[in-house]
Amino acid sequence: VLTVVPPEGTTSSEFTRAARLREALKGAPSPSIVLGNGDDAAVLRPGGDVVVTTDVLVEGVDFAAWAPWDAVGHKAVAVNLSDLAAMGAEPLAYLMSLCLPRGFPEPHVEALSAGMASCGALHGLPCVGGDLSRTSGPVVVGVTALGTVPPGLALTRSGARPGDGIWVSGVLGAASTGLGLLSQQAGLSRNILETLEKFASGAHREAVRAQLAPTPRLALGRALRGVASGCVDVSDGLAQDLCHLLVASGVGARVEVARLPAHPSADPAHVLSGGEDFELLFTASDAAAVERASRACGVPVTRVGQVTAGPGLDLVGLVSLPGEDVGRLDMGEMPRVSGAQGLRGYVHFPAAP
Ligand SMILES: [Mg+2]
Repeated sequence: VLTVVPPEGTTSSEFTRAARLREALKGAPSPSIVLGNGDDAAVLRPGGDVVVTTDVLVEGVDFAAWAPWDAVGHKAVAVNLSDLAAMGAEPLAYLMSLCLPRGFPEPHVEALSAGMASCGALHGLPCVGGDLSRTSGPVVVGVTALGTVPPGLALTRSGARPGDGIWVSGVLGAASTGLGLLSQQAGLSRNILETLEKFASGAHREAVRAQLAPTPRLALGRALRGVASGCVDVSDGLAQDLCHLLVASGVGARVEVARLPAHPSADPAHVLSGGEDFELLFTASDAAAVERASRACGVPVTRVGQVTAGPGLDLVGLVSLPGEDVGRLDMGEMPRVSGAQGLRGYVHFPAAP
C-alpha cells in the first residue's frame, strides 16, 4: 500500500505526494474491494479464479523522453489490462509502484496519476495499493493488475488445435506507425490531447492515439470465454505473438498476409511485426460463435488463417520488407517460419548496427 510514513531522508513533499497519489487513484467503491488503499494491505473479495499480471515501463526503454506523462500513466495500466483481456478476465483492481528521480516535477506526477486514474476509471478498476520510491536512474512505473474469471474459464495460449481458425481483432500496425509519427514530431506536448491536436489527418491521429492511449480489448476477451481455444494479446507484433501461442499449443499455422487487417497508414512491416497493437489474436473451432462474440461486444474481428498440425508458421503471400533486419524476430521455440525473410518483432533495445 502507498507508503505514508516517510522513509529516512524523505522530504515532506514526498510524504504528501504519496497521500495525493493515493487519493487520485482510489477509484469508485466496489463490492469486491473490502478494503482499498490506505491500510497495510488491501483486502479483496473476488468471485471466481483470480488472474494476475504485471508490467513495468522504464523511461528510455519502454517509453521515450518526449512521451506526455498522462500517456505513460494511461499506458502503464492499459498494457496490464490487455493481458487480462487476453485471459478473458474481468478487471478487479491494480497496484502500482513508482520510482522517480530527485526533483521530478510535481505537475508531471499529477499528469502521470491522472493518466492512470482515467484508464482505471474507463475500465472500472481502482488502484488498491502501491509504493513510491526514489531512483538515481530513469523513471520506472510498475503496475500489477488483478482480474477474475469464472472458475476454469480463463483463456490460455495452449488450447489451439489443428483445423481451428485464427482471428485478430481491430487493426494492426497503428501503434507502431503512431510511434514513428511522434518520433518525427518537433516539440514536446504536455498531454495526450495537446499531442493529438498536432495531427490533422484522421488516420495519423488514430495511429498516434493508438500509441499514446491503447484500448485493451476487455469486452472481446470476456465474450470469447468458452469460444476461443487459444488467445494472446498482440504486444510484440502479430508474427511474434502468434509464435508464442503456436509453441504453447504444440501446433503450426498458415496465415494469409493479404487478409491481415492493416491500419490505413501502416506499412506492411508494421502490420506483421510492429509492437503495441494490443489487439487479441485467438483461435477457435466455431466460426459462427466467433462472429456472435464479435457482434455482442461491437469489436470487429478478421479471420487471418488456420491452425495446422505443424510444426512451423507459413506466412503466405509475404512480400519482402526492405530495410528490415533478417533473423531478429524472436520466434521462441518455433522450429520453422517460412516467408519470414526480413521480418522482425518489436525489440525494446535494437542492437547497434
Ligand atoms: Mg500478453
